[in-house]
Parts: sequence; structure tokens; C-alpha cells
Amino acid sequence: MAKEFDVCVIGSGPGGYVAAIRASQLGFNTAIIEKRHLGGVCLNIGCIPTKALLRSAEVYESIEDAADYGITVNDYEADFEGIIGRSRNVANKMSKGVQFLMKANKIEVFEGKGVFESKEQIKVVNEDDETQEQITADHFIIATGARARELPNIKIDGEMVIDYEKAMQLEEQPEKMVVIGAGAIGVEFAYFYNTIGTEVTLVELEDSLVPVEDKDIGKELGKIYKKKGIDVRTGSTVEQVEENGDGVKVTIKTGDEEEVVEADVVLSAVGVTGNVEGIGLDEIGVEYSKGTITIDKENYRTSVENIYAIGDVAGGPWLAHKASHEGIFCVEKLAGEDPLPINYNNIPGCTYCEPQIASVGYTEEQAKEEGYDIKVGKFPFSASGKATGLGHEEGFVKVVFDEKYGEWLGCHMIGSHVTELIAEAVVARDLETTGHEIISAVHPHPTMSEAVMEAVAEAYGEGVHLGN
Ligand SMILES: Cc1cc2nc3c(=O)[nH]c(=O)nc-3n(C[C@H](O)[C@H](O)[C@H](O)COP(=O)(O)OP(=O)(O)OC[C@H]3O[C@@H](n4cnc5c(N)ncnc54)[C@H](O)[C@@H]3O)c2cc1C
Repeated sequence: MAKEFDVCVIGSGPGGYVAAIRASQLGFNTAIIEKRHLGGVCLNIGCIPTKALLRSAEVYESIEDAADYGITVNDYEADFEGIIGRSRNVANKMSKGVQFLMKANKIEVFEGKGVFESKEQIKVVNEDDETQEQITADHFIIATGARARELPNIKIDGEMVIDYEKAMQLEEQPEKMVVIGAGAIGVEFAYFYNTIGTEVTLVELEDSLVPVEDKDIGKELGKIYKKKGIDVRTGSTVEQVEENGDGVKVTIKTGDEEEVVEADVVLSAVGVTGNVEGIGLDEIGVEYSKGTITIDKENYRTSVENIYAIGDVAGGPWLAHKASHEGIFCVEKLAGEDPLPINYNNIPGCTYCEPQIASVGYTEEQAKEEGYDIKVGKFPFSASGKATGLGHEEGFVKVVFDEKYGEWLGCHMIGSHVTELIAEAVVARDLETTGHEIISAVHPHPTMSEAVMEAVAEAYGEGVHLGN
């Protein structure tokens, strides 16, 4: 007999598990179905393990630069197995944390794949497609996430061409790697592998790295990556990957020129596509298009009334915090509450290579396209006492304001640990804070955060530290 619940969530990533906890807090009898590991991509094979790898690279870089700080280190090397092992331990710890939270919130966890049998009932099947359980619920929330997208001419075979999941768990450190795609995932892996000694070629179709970011950010990262020894190929495509003994031959096209680069492995990092297949969506009439479930953003309801979709499977931006916020909003609406709608123009995006990148709102180009007359301010970390003391003078904070009403349209940063600074702009923009309120809010000295205030002061022609 089917088990009955008020809310059943399919998928336990940061969208699904957070939605389930909020549902339980609001009094719903809640179930969650997970076919792989609690915590989803983010905790197990995404955000968290990559940040652990990047931390190892940062430590390695600090040791490499130790002499600059007056410290002699004679002997060091990257223990690749140890680095991967630490990252896996961090991921496993976080996944266990979700297990604890499910228990603490009295959420029943079903291990297996959820497949809809009707609009009111879902079955949980094991790897052999055998039904383990049947669940009925008043409301279903689909949070099945996304997986690596594949280029039509470059198949991910797990050997010559790998995806992010394999790239974070390789058994041996490659000597040479080609990374296709310079979005967040591509540039993070390029930094990680380059730092610990792999020769990295980074290929990007657009004319700058991190193409969704403000153009100045992409240019700055390109300069820094070249200095770090990464072979950066923008305006380029990978045409072909062929077997070459134990490695690969990669044909890279830039303009009309083709060049063959030899490597051990290719990482394909060209975005993600939603997991819409094999869950019975067609059978029950849940509409989707190009790997994204169609939803209304007032409720996150799909084309079927009692079925909702959140997180990566409901479209971009493909970010953990966006997935969690959608989960909370969706469930609060179900409970009859009146949560504030999510402002999709105020979702920060962060990239954790070194230097890090963080941004929110309109880029300079987008603000102009939207028809705003703008004021732009920029403050380089080379003029920051804290950044200089840290030995991280590269990068800057750039802010974009509306000339007419003073709205803070966008904030873009590249520099050491700037991902910790972006929340100021998010909160300020949420509260419709003016530039002068930021300038007059006393920021602590010496901190990297002063650069935000200084950049705003520059936008208003009131900066004191650049000698303009
Ligand atoms: C390498 C990498 C690094 C990233 N770094 C960051 C970062 O630093 N910051 C950030 O914000 N985002 C990052 N992301 C993106 C982030 O991981 C995703 O946006 C986030 O995980 C989406 O959450 P979700 O709940 O929608 O889905 P997921 O986390 O994808 O979870 C979906 C879950 O559903 C399960 N599932 C699928 N189908 C079924 C089914 N039929 N039945 C049962 N279970 C099912 C899957 O097994 C999975 O566990 C990164 C992604 C990658 C790949």
C-alpha cells in the first residue's frame, strides 16, 4: 500500500533538502526521495568538494610564494591522492550533515529513483527498476537538479573526455589537461590543476574568460591566468578529440587557424542541463523544454497543479543558493504564507579560483543595454593597505550606479576572497541603499571590504585614495 504524505520532494540537493526541512517546519508530513547521495550535486560533487580542492591549491600557492613573506620552505610537493582524499572527506561530512537534518526534522528519506505513476502517486525504484515503495502526496516538489551538458562533437566518455565529477576524483594527476569552457566550473578547475603543476590549456568560445561577468572582470582574469602560466585560448573552439596512445590529441580552432595540442585528458565544462528524463513527466503531463521544467514564478507550479519544480531543473542561474531560496519560497506559498518574491536580478554569482570573482546585478554593458545613464566607480586592490599586506594586490571592485536616481545597479569584484564581500552589495541593493549611504557607512580599516566603499566613492567623484 502507498505511504501517504502532505509533501513529497524528489531530489535532495540544496533545493530539495531545504524545501523538505521548511515543509516539515511548517507542519507538513514530508518525504524526500534521493537516488544517489543526500545533499545532491552541491554537497557531493559540486560546490563543496571543489572548494576543498581549491583550498589545497591556495595552500600550495602560499607555500610556493613563502619566500615573498620572509619564510623559507625547502621541500614541498602536492600529494594528489591526499588532496582528493581531503575533498572527499569534506563532501562526505556535509552529506552526513543532511542525513542528520532529515532525521532531526522527522523527514522520511526514501533511497531510490522517483518515477511518477500518476499526478498523485510516485514509485521509488532501485537500480534494477524494481519498485521499492509507492508514495502518495498532496504536493510534489521536483528538485532533480542538473548534470554536465555535452557538446555534440565532444562526447564525455569518462576516459579521454571527462566531466566535473571525474575531474574532482581522478586517480592520478594529469601532466597536461585541456579544459573546454571558461565559465565558473572551467576556470576553477583550470586554477586548481595549474597551481598544483598540471599544464593547463583553457579554451573558451567567447572573447573573454567568465563571459557572463562584466567584461573588465574577464579581461583581468585572462591577464592573471596567463601570468600564472595557463595557456588561455579565447575566441576558440575544440573541434576534435582523438586518441593518442595513453592521452589525447585536441584540435583547437582560433579564427581560421587550427592547432593540435597533446594532453592526458580533456575536461568538458560547457554548462549543465536539467534532469527531466525518466521521472514520468511526459506520462503525467508536466511540461518542459530544453532540459528545463516550465514553472510559474509566482508559485513554482508546473503545468500540473499539485506538482512544483525548483532549483537547477527549473532553470538558471544554476546556483545552490538560488535553489534553496526557491525551495523555501515554494513551500511557504504552499503553507499559505506570503513570502517576498525572489529578485532574480539580485542573486550573487561567485567563482572561487584565486583571485576569486563575485558579482551581482547588471554588468556595465547590460546597464547600458537597459538604457540607463550610469556612473561607474572602480577601486583597485593595489591601492588597498590590507590587500598589499596580504600580498594579494591583484584585482578590483567595480560598481555601477544609475545616474538619475542613484540605484545601485551592479557590483563586480575580482580579488582575493572577494566572495566574502559581495553580500554587502546584495543586502544594500535589497534595501535600496543609496551610494552616499554606502560611503557614509564606516567600513573597518584595514579590510578588503573598504574597497567596496572606495569604489562607490569613486563613482561619485569622492574617492580619496587614488590621487585622481
Ligand atoms: C563542479 C561544480 C561546482 C559548483 N560550485 C558551485 C558553487 O560554488 N556555488 C553554487 O552556488 N553553485 C555551485 N554549483 C551548482 C550547484 O551545485 C547547483 O546549482 C545545485 O546543486 C542545484 O541544486 P538542486 O537542488 O537544484 O539540484 P542537485 O544539487 O543537482 O540535486 C539533485 C538531486 O536529485 C537527485 N535525483 C535526480 N533525479 C532523481 C529521481 N528521479 N529520484 C530521486 N532523486 C533524483 C540527484 O541524485 C541529486 O542528488 C556547482 C556545480 C558543479 C557541478
